[in-house]
Amino acid sequence: RRGWRRVVRVLEELEEGCATPVGRLRQVVDAMAVEMHAGLASEGGSKLKMLLTYVHNLPTGNEKGIYYALDLGGTNFRVLRIRLGGQRSAIIEHDVDRQPIPQHLMTSTSEELFDFIATSLKDFVEREENVSEPSQKERRELGFTFSFPVKQISSSSGTLIKWTKGFSVEDMVGKDVSQCLQQAMSRKGMDMRVTALINDTVGTLALGHYHDEDTVAAVIFGTGTNACYLERADAIIKSQGLLTTTGGMVVNMEWGNFWSSHLPRTSYDVDLDAESPNPNDQGFEKMISGMYLGDIVRRVILQMSQESDVFGPVSSKLHAPFILRTPLIAAMHEDDSPNLNEVARILKESLEIPEVPLNVRKLVVKVCDVVTCRAARLAAAGIVGILKKIGRDGSGGIASVKTKNGIHKKMRRTVVAVEGGLYTNYTMFREYLNEAMGQILGEDVAPYVIIKVTEDGSGIGAALLAASHSASE
Ligand code: ADP
Repeated sequence: RRGWRRVVRVLEELEEGCATPVGRLRQVVDAMAVEMHAGLASEGGSKLKMLLTYVHNLPTGNEKGIYYALDLGGTNFRVLRIRLGGQRSAIIEHDVDRQPIPQHLMTSTSEELFDFIATSLKDFVEREENVSEPSQKERRELGFTFSFPVKQISSSSGTLIKWTKGFSVEDMVGKDVSQCLQQAMSRKGMDMRVTALINDTVGTLALGHYHDEDTVAAVIFGTGTNACYLERADAIIKSQGLLTTTGGMVVNMEWGNFWSSHLPRTSYDVDLDAESPNPNDQGFEKMISGMYLGDIVRRVILQMSQESDVFGPVSSKLHAPFILRTPLIAAMHEDDSPNLNEVARILKESLEIPEVPLNVRKLVVKVCDVVTCRAARLAAAGIVGILKKIGRDGSGGIASVKTKNGIHKKMRRTVVAVEGGLYTNYTMFREYLNEAMGQILGEDVAPYVIIKVTEDGSGIGAALLAASHSASE
């Protein structure tokens, strides 16, 4: 087949364009820390929004009782109930009900949408309390995870800035999200109070902190990506005089929108962005998250196919945006059969490219590798950027402690809670990310930084915050 050399050239250019040597990653680390500063200094001071959450107490593990949570963040919504026994106990009971949001409600009125949600919640509560003991509290308490951009007014209320992810309930924009839910619950005769309104990363941080109090940040790598962390209140210059009991506040970074000239960008990224519904937006997310990795790979294969015959005639499927989903590139990347049968199957079934010789299959694996490796390493740099901002990256030096047995280096343990299908299901992404963390931090510091996977922080974390906020009142 013609054009093999040209295809190899495309691969080499991709590798050069996506290169992330440690020196470059350190530049990204610094840029992240600088942008965080800027976003905290003034409203609109950075592409990082650095949204205040008004959450200053994270769950300690001493919470007790029965709490509910509602998680609305995409096409599904979930209601759940947990029972907590105090003393950092395992979560004793945990029941979940998941339902799709009917399509027509995603573009209806706020009243219709929230009536539907309140009804489902009411059914769930009644069902649960029939089979299990009821909440002892006079009023049931609910944490609400609402993963759309919200301007928080307090840790339990905030107004919707805009809809994303296919929702467009226009009368909701500018309204208080908790109040909408609260009113719908009253209309249904429910006695329940929204005691926390959060986004999903904050839930992950809460769950991480419940299990391990050294947890200072949370990151999600799923369809999209975002991060939040615990900041000193006096570092939040844009809202001076912010008094908090603990001196800290969780900041929702909205880091998917991070941008820096140090990010290695290729023509595929430029095209993907230009053809997206939100050009110039979410630049970091478009290089990192599960929604996009497959599509970057598709664009590279399309380029290779157009420049050569190695894939046969150009398949029309290669022109279809998002046809190659990220789980498929993971499956090709991790295909360990000698003949790369899985790669051949996916090329044939998903892209209608039949009978690809082994050397071309290997090429496709390499493309997946380059794209995912860049994503994972940039993600690691982002995490270290957060640690740098809060002085946990070891760059301030490691304290030396003198003991009888000599001088020991001592550093605080730092835990980052991580969640999301991209991290948990895509082994190579996870391994590249962890490897890069070690390279950036260096061997003295890396052992003190622990990445811990949490599960269902967006649900359980909201209930935990409902608990810790109710306790703190
Ligand atoms: P959310 O859609 O709320 O982010 P998840 O955290 O479960 O939900 O993430 C789902 C995303 O994770 C998918 O959109 C996909 O991009 C990615 N993903 C899921 N499974 C895999 C997999 N096996 N390999 C690679 N990516 C995966």
